[in-house]
Amino acid sequence: MNSLRFISEEIVWQEVPNETSLAFLISGCPLGCKGCHSADSWKQSNGTKLCPIYLANRIALYKGLISCVLFMGGEWQEQNLLAMLKLVKEQGLKTCLYTGLELDQVSDSLLNELDYIKTGRWIAERGGLNSLTTNQRFIDLNTKQILNHLFQQVSNND
Ligand code: SF4
Repeated sequence: MNSLRFISEEIVWQEVPNETSLAFLISGCPLGCKGCHSADSWKQSNGTKLCPIYLANRIALYKGLISCVLFMGGEWQEQNLLAMLKLVKEQGLKTCLYTGLELDQVSDSLLNELDYIKTGRWIAERGGLNSLTTNQRFIDLNTKQILNHLFQQVSNND
């Protein structure tokens, strides 16, 4: 079975509102959106292997400092991503997935392990989460609320 690989790893504050997240950009997105900001991540063999031991060590390193782990992609390796999400939840942290799929294209198995999800592929003329015309949605799966307004406030104050 292939393993998840990641291109980058960083601590982020804006991608998941009100959470401090450890974010992994996962290799192998098959959607090929025109204008993708991370086309270097399309090739599945690129990047560093993300195994459970590595992830557990990173969570231990950031214990008390992070509240969430964000996976930017990885749903194309569902079983591997599920194992990672379960590991995160067992550590008492929240989980978020950024996907280019629509909500009804994401499996119930994945949704059951997620607290937040960003859906919708990148369409340049409609913009991202901070755009009023975006096709993308950021959803709190626990409350079923769409939280796009939390991203749009930032740009509307410009
Ligand atoms: S879904 Fe995201 S990562 Fe995948 S091709 Fe589209 S913009 Fe790039």
